[in-house]
Amino acid sequence: MLIKISELRERPEPLLIEADFTDQDLKVRDQISSLEGPVPAKLKISLHSADRVRVVGSLNADVVFTCSRCLKNFPRNIRKSFDLEYWPDPVVTNEGEEFELTYPELTIGFYRNDELDLSAVISEQIVLEFPMKSVCREDCRGLCDQCGKDLNEGPCECEPVSVDPRLAPLADLKKKIVH
Ligand SMILES: [Zn+2]
Ligand SMILES: [Zn+2]
Repeated sequence: MLIKISELRERPEPLLIEADFTDQDLKVRDQISSLEGPVPAKLKISLHSADRVRVVGSLNADVVFTCSRCLKNFPRNIRKSFDLEYWPDPVVTNEGEEFELTYPELTIGFYRNDELDLSAVISEQIVLEFPMKSVCREDCRGLCDQCGKDLNEGPCECEPVSVDPRLAPLADLKKKIVH
């Protein structure tokens, strides 16, 4: 959903939008997540200082993650409000080459070509809430790496593998990565 900044400029009142953003609009699907239905959002879009866009709104997303330990899907609800500002993208031209300046501020984003992509705004707000590590619960025991049994359902019959002492540091490292 694209908003023309020139159209905002002509409006005396902020633009109010209430819409359901679909999976196709948002493109947040990847290996760890999918959306359970469209994401309803309410947005108030206003312009100030000639070209700065303020987006105040809220969203409610039902997201499905895949647990990185046991590989089961688990749902999470993401419900949040936000107050964001978008400025025209500062593009610097250097010997005919274009590159973008990047800013660490999370609250200020940029738009290009006099258009603000609201779907991208909403996707970004959802992705910001994704956990660094997707686990169904803190103490998820994961799958046995020999037989693949879900160890949350109980122990399996596998013997602990004896590790070549020369490879032990490697096994420790793997443990750290997996757990
Ligand atoms: Zn799990
Ligand atoms: Zn096993």
